[in-house]
Amino acid sequence: MTSALQAPNVHDAEPIPAEARAEIDRLLQSGDLFRYTAPQDAPVALLEREFADLIGARFALAVSSCSAALFLSLKALDLPRDARVLIPAFTFAAVPSAVLHAECRPVLCEVGENYRIDMTDFAAKLETCQAVLISHMRGHTSDMDAIMALCNARSIPVIEDAAHSLGTTWNGRNIGTIGRIGCFSFQSYKLVNAGEGGILVTDDAELVARAIIMSGAYEHNWNKHPVLREVFPALQNTLPLYNQRMSNLSAAVIRPQLGHVARRVVDGRANHDHVAARLNRSPWMQVPDKLPAEERAPDSIQFNLEGMDEGERSAFADQAEAMGVKVQIFGLSADNARAFWNWRFIPDLPADLPSTRAMLMRACDVRLPARLTRAECDFIAEALVAAAETVMGQSRAYGT
Ligand SMILES: *Cc1c(COP(=O)(O)O)cnc(C)c1O
Repeated sequence: MTSALQAPNVHDAEPIPAEARAEIDRLLQSGDLFRYTAPQDAPVALLEREFADLIGARFALAVSSCSAALFLSLKALDLPRDARVLIPAFTFAAVPSAVLHAECRPVLCEVGENYRIDMTDFAAKLETCQAVLISHMRGHTSDMDAIMALCNARSIPVIEDAAHSLGTTWNGRNIGTIGRIGCFSFQSYKLVNAGEGGILVTDDAELVARAIIMSGAYEHNWNKHPVLREVFPALQNTLPLYNQRMSNLSAAVIRPQLGHVARRVVDGRANHDHVAARLNRSPWMQVPDKLPAEERAPDSIQFNLEGMDEGERSAFADQAEAMGVKVQIFGLSADNARAFWNWRFIPDLPADLPSTRAMLMRACDVRLPARLTRAECDFIAEALVAAAETVMGQSRAYGT
């Protein structure tokens, strides 16, 4: 153990780039915080252009959160009430919540031990669904070629929940640009941090026009979006206004971070792969491989505990925490928002999803921000390996 080094702080985000200050000062001076006050080039509008260019999409709409982006995406698809929306059973509780908010019904699809969608269950359940919402949970990308082939053959629209996948690519293409719509988060635990915020991207002008109006572009504020102007008049006054707009202050915090995305992706991937290699040398831990078409952009690491019973897995999490590294085992921590059996707000929650449950009961989650040094990554990796050895050494010694 590298006892000379203190346990690294994995919770703080990176400082917001200094360039944000001057812009925030200007906004505070002028009081120009609402995206539709200025006739053009409001910070939110500039962010939309810059983000669309960065990600390679025609249109972007910045909103108050990724959950709002998911909700507006479902509304913009104009699905009938109670439409069945297929989502992976391993995701954050806000995702089935967005489906319910849009007056649709979440249908949960099994996830395998590699955290990705079980394509057999997906294909079977797809027949009963009108839309698909793929959560790339913790950035883990499911087989988008297989998903798009199945959905395109049935003309089923795909929304990508890329909340935690900014910078991840699939066959060289940015995650979030493969489905009909992609949604990203700027909440503080994501790659770009504005405290709160979200953005949706699409190449579909009709779709983004509907989302723009419903996000709160009342009257003729749609004029301030560079979208095909002929789309809007037919929509005027036909859609509800849900007011989920982004403030100029959030855009001022986000814009200077976009230039840091590429570096954060490279550093985060290097940290992840370094720690993964160390954990994979332990008999007690296994980091699932990425799919061949995927390039990851991780800011955390997930791994499965091997050869441990439930008591030993809990003891491992306690031991790692005592050594300074917080481990969340999704299915073992109380009231975890990523364990589907806690989503009791879903009307017809399935009695069980054995594959997803088995994964959640042994999958560990450890934060690994891109800003960590190699020594800090080593501290985390060695603490995890030592915690497993301590617990399993004792178990074997006492014959439990
Ligand atoms: C964070 C996250 C969300 C929610 O994003 P908000 O911006 O907080 O609404 C949804 N899905 C996934 C996979 C996430 O990681």
